[in-house]
Amino acid sequence: MEDLKIKNMVKNRHLAKSIHDAGWGAFRRMLTYKCNRNGGKLVKVKPHFTSQDCSNCHHRVKKSLSVRTHVCKHCGTVLDRDHNAAINIEKVGLNQLGLTPTA
Ligand SMILES: [Zn+2]
Repeated sequence: MEDLKIKNMVKNRHLAKSIHDAGWGAFRRMLTYKCNRNGGKLVKVKPHFTSQDCSNCHHRVKKSLSVRTHVCKHCGTVLDRDHNAAINIEKVGLNQLGLTPTA
């Protein structure tokens, strides 16, 4: 998962309500607990450009927070913004563990 700095994010009044509503901190604590309990490992990755970079070709596609679809003119990839970010986060996390993503 992204290693988001929740304390800093709630200072942004545009993001604060969403973050509190999502119970983000509680979710992260539960996920850590579940991973530890089941022999897994929660990998935290730096959140830099996870939603900007194309998960297919790594081309950086700048977009504001309100743009919810990732459209890469470089390779033609079109994905939901969060799906694109999730693929990038998975790749970085696996890389941190010395593993490679499966197709
Ligand atoms: Zn691309």
